[in-house]
Amino acid sequence: MNNLLDRVQSTMLMGAGPSSVAPSTYHAMSQPTLGHMDPFFIRIMDELMTGLRVLFGTENTLTIPLSGTGSLGMEASFVNLVEQGDKVLILQNGVFGVRMVEVATRLGAQVTELAFEWGTPVDLEEVEKALRQDTFKIVAVVMAETSTGVLNPVKEIGELLNEDTLYIVDAVTAIGGMPIEADRWGIDVCYAGSQKCLSCPPGASPITFSPRAIEAIKKRKTKVPNWYVDMMLLTEYMSGGKRVYHHTPPINMMYGLYQAVLNIQEEGPVKVFERHVKAHEHLVEQLGSLGWTLLVDEPYRLPMLNAFVVPGGVDEAALRSTLLNEYHIEISAGLGALAGKIVRIGLMGYNAKIESVDRLVSAMRQI
Ligand SMILES: *Cc1c(COP(=O)(O)O)cnc(C)c1O
Repeated sequence: MNNLLDRVQSTMLMGAGPSSVAPSTYHAMSQPTLGHMDPFFIRIMDELMTGLRVLFGTENTLTIPLSGTGSLGMEASFVNLVEQGDKVLILQNGVFGVRMVEVATRLGAQVTELAFEWGTPVDLEEVEKALRQDTFKIVAVVMAETSTGVLNPVKEIGELLNEDTLYIVDAVTAIGGMPIEADRWGIDVCYAGSQKCLSCPPGASPITFSPRAIEAIKKRKTKVPNWYVDMMLLTEYMSGGKRVYHHTPPINMMYGLYQAVLNIQEEGPVKVFERHVKAHEHLVEQLGSLGWTLLVDEPYRLPMLNAFVVPGGVDEAALRSTLLNEYHIEISAGLGALAGKIVRIGLMGYNAKIESVDRLVSAMRQI
């Protein structure tokens, strides 16, 4: 091996994730590795869990970072709640809704998929109709659909659900970039990821379970079929006095997540969310003057993920590769049916600022 790492160049990450990492977070991750039972590490984890509760808008005791990426959060949500034959309603308007269907189906759930055109939000009337026709144990939706740039009406969907239904929400791209009110919106399981608006490298998935969700796990007739993310086992390691060994968490990853959450706390969450909106407005205005328009209509646009329709005559693949190779700026392609039709520009965490937008727009102008 000749050391390739010496030749990694810094790229400004303005795609669908991962996002650029704050220097303070890199610094945090290079601190000495402690043992996972070290009381000081446990103290760090306890504080981290408190910080995560604030970002989720919850008082749930069971709020922890899973050792894995956002998709592990999705797996953990379904694998703990679903038993063979359970009825699950998935509201799908993008790639991550499709992934939910895949995950729930593999667990033997009876899945009803309610699909909406990509680029449009979940339609509440359709949800109401589906809920009148059948009773579901679980309803699941993606809050910030990264594949399309759509914000779904998570609060309003929650208001349609009765007390017997468990509500799973994917907040991977939302966390740290916009307010989440898990308790007030009636969310039972909410999961997230470290590498979107938290601006931490990929590798940790914050997740929270409501007391109702925990009751549902305790009432299972069968064991949670996945040992690694069995929430009851994880609870014994992560909380309470016992701290029973379960697995060795990626210690330095947790330092990074701790710092990332601390950074938001220090700047002030409201200010952080406003910064995302301002950067988004600036980007829309600047690219608008170059003839670029957004895929998504006004009230459903995500500030942190901007899906732009590629104007006629623009070779989007060439644009992306020139941006990456010559300007060291990454933006993302469209996925599925939107491939070639849109590009996705992320304004997540560290790069949700005017200077970053200006650097990108100036490069795009030159190209
Ligand atoms: C990125 C993302 C995921 C998956 O996270 P990974 O870290 O790639 O596993 C899930 N849901 C949404 C909405 C995402 O944006």
